[in-house]
Amino acid sequence: MSDDRTPTWLIQLRFFLLCSPVGIVLAIILAPFALPVLAGFSIGVFLFWHGSRLFTNCFVWLLDPEGYTALRQQGCDPFYGSLGSPLNNDTESVRIYGRDINSNCPECDEPVFLQTNVTTICPACQSQWHDNHWWKWTGTRWVLVE
Ligand SMILES: [Zn+2]
Repeated sequence: MSDDRTPTWLIQLRFFLLCSPVGIVLAIILAPFALPVLAGFSIGVFLFWHGSRLFTNCFVWLLDPEGYTALRQQGCDPFYGSLGSPLNNDTESVRIYGRDINSNCPECDEPVFLQTNVTTICPACQSQWHDNHWWKWTGTRWVLVE
């Protein structure tokens, strides 16, 4: 997994903290029942959060099962990816592709994530980033892409 993604527990914590004033005000208004109100509120927020996540991910999966599987393999979660600031401050490319895009494929201009000494295959044209150079398959041999 990539480290440039905000951990999901942190996004969840931010959401809970954002909602907490509502729970605190409710607990003050219903003071004699403050503890059950706070407990009920926390459970409610928790169920709402995971209900929304389930709904979003099922929706994405129903529309595009293959795309959903591909996203999950990249470590993307469509629900967390759909959230913006202040819950998820990741850049757009991290939220959409699961990682920060730092290069473009020289063959087809597809945005890709490259690391030194890590082999990467362009998802659009199958060119390979290998030994810190781009290679393309001509049908008989690999040639260096200039
Ligand atoms: Zn390419």
